[in-house]
Amino acid sequence: MGRVVYWTIMRAAIVIPSLWFLMYYFQFRYWWIVAFGAIYGIIIHPAIIQFRKFENDNKEIVQSTLCSSCKHFDKTAVLCLKYDEHPSLNFLPCDGVEWEPINNFDYEEKEYN
Ligand code: SF4
Repeated sequence: MGRVVYWTIMRAAIVIPSLWFLMYYFQFRYWWIVAFGAIYGIIIHPAIIQFRKFENDNKEIVQSTLCSSCKHFDKTAVLCLKYDEHPSLNFLPCDGVEWEPINNFDYEEKEYN
């Protein structure tokens, strides 16, 4: 996930100054069209594609590994928070030793307090 955010920021860092520079070469009414096209086509659309690929690549890890039912697992980053490592289908950072179930009772208590 960090890679998606990183490359989105990098593309934005290149596209936005470039658009600023191109403003002097286009009439203002055309510049807006070019700007919206460039922002969507170079920054937003590739970020959406990368995010969908990230979700698809990690779908099985998020849904069907031991980590998916552990309270130390962050599904949004596909990260073990206890070991600060990314589990995979063939690799559990703790080898299952540190697994702790997600305790739904804790969530219910927090909601009522
Ligand atoms: S503690 Fe173990 S089971 Fe839990 S998320 Fe980390 S590696 Fe997975």
